[in-house]
Amino acid sequence: MFQGTDIRVHTLEVLTETTMTTIRTTCNRCGDIELTTADLRLELVADSGTGQYMFECPFCECLQHRPANDRVVSILLATGVEYRVLPTDEPISEAEIQAFADALGDDDWYPAFMQA
Ligand SMILES: [Zn+2]
Repeated sequence: MFQGTDIRVHTLEVLTETTMTTIRTTCNRCGDIELTTADLRLELVADSGTGQYMFECPFCECLQHRPANDRVVSILLATGVEYRVLPTDEPISEAEIQAFADALGDDDWYPAFMQA
């Protein structure tokens, strides 16, 4: 998903105050901006511990996507940011299919189901 071409360094800083959590990051156009957890969404890549986060800049309304490394992911999860887990693009391997078949056991419900 990430092409490895974006080498810009974006800061992401979390400020926890008494009433709300402020996430300070940067907009490509506006520079430093402050967001709340409700402004951010996190997408996790299954089993990787990394992903991306996205937000709409409150000033220019530009939707921005940023890669999230494991540190950023753990920070954002700790703040209660809404997240979802993305399915991996990896095809299911023969070994996984076999493991699944083995997990079903030797019960003969499967042929019966197929004939129904
Ligand atoms: Zn902006």
